[in-house]
Amino acid sequence: MERRRKLLLSCAEVSMIVGIVVVPCYGEGAAVKQVSNIASTNLKPPSDAIMLFDGKSTDAWVMQGSKEPCRWEILPTGAMRVRGGSIITKQKFTDYQLHLEFRPLSGDLNATGQGRGNSGVYNQGLYEVQILDSYGLDSQDNDCGGIYRVSKPMVNACLKPTEWQSYDILFFAPRFDGSGKMTEPARVSVLQNGVWIQQNAQAWKRTTAAMSEKEQDENEPGPIMLQDHGNPVEYRNIWIRPLGPTKL
Ligand code: MG
Repeated sequence: MERRRKLLLSCAEVSMIVGIVVVPCYGEGAAVKQVSNIASTNLKPPSDAIMLFDGKSTDAWVMQGSKEPCRWEILPTGAMRVRGGSIITKQKFTDYQLHLEFRPLSGDLNATGQGRGNSGVYNQGLYEVQILDSYGLDSQDNDCGGIYRVSKPMVNACLKPTEWQSYDILFFAPRFDGSGKMTEPARVSVLQNGVWIQQNAQAWKRTTAAMSEKEQDENEPGPIMLQDHGNPVEYRNIWIRPLGPTKL
């Protein structure tokens, strides 16, 4: 038994033994590896995708809460910039593949932590894939690519804050039994800049600053929400492929 225990080395011990060889350890406490030389932007939408932002119009979006027309600024570059509150899609979705491109701008260079280019993609209006300037960090579950306070990314695939980045999100909404009890949590897998960073992360509860219970039931199709956290962040080329029932 003692011998067997000795053979079960921790990731840290293995890393020390192999020296410069990088060992991918995604377990609890393991440092998040930095991945570089990556890009996956300007991706053309597949023929069956619904375009949510094509650089010309924000008609697919309204302000969260008031449902007034989207006030985010459309730039000559074909991007839109966060302004005046979070926005949600008019259309609601259940399970889907979502592509979007974003760039967190540094803005206030003295800002730190959650103040550096913070925004976020809320799936079903409830489950946030964090957007933040987390370039070069040992990413935690509140950094870019994290399912906020639920799951940290397997690797840090972030680019520098002024560079365009992409998310490809595979989302499955939670499931409920006949009595309204949640039987399966929301499940989220993510590629950031073409790199696999989240594998089937499971969220049993809505994440911080999600739409309220009054606004969005976990058992109903929901919108895509893009967060205004008061920081300058731009988005472009947003499209979605619903996999399940959708509802206007
Ligand atoms: Mg956020």
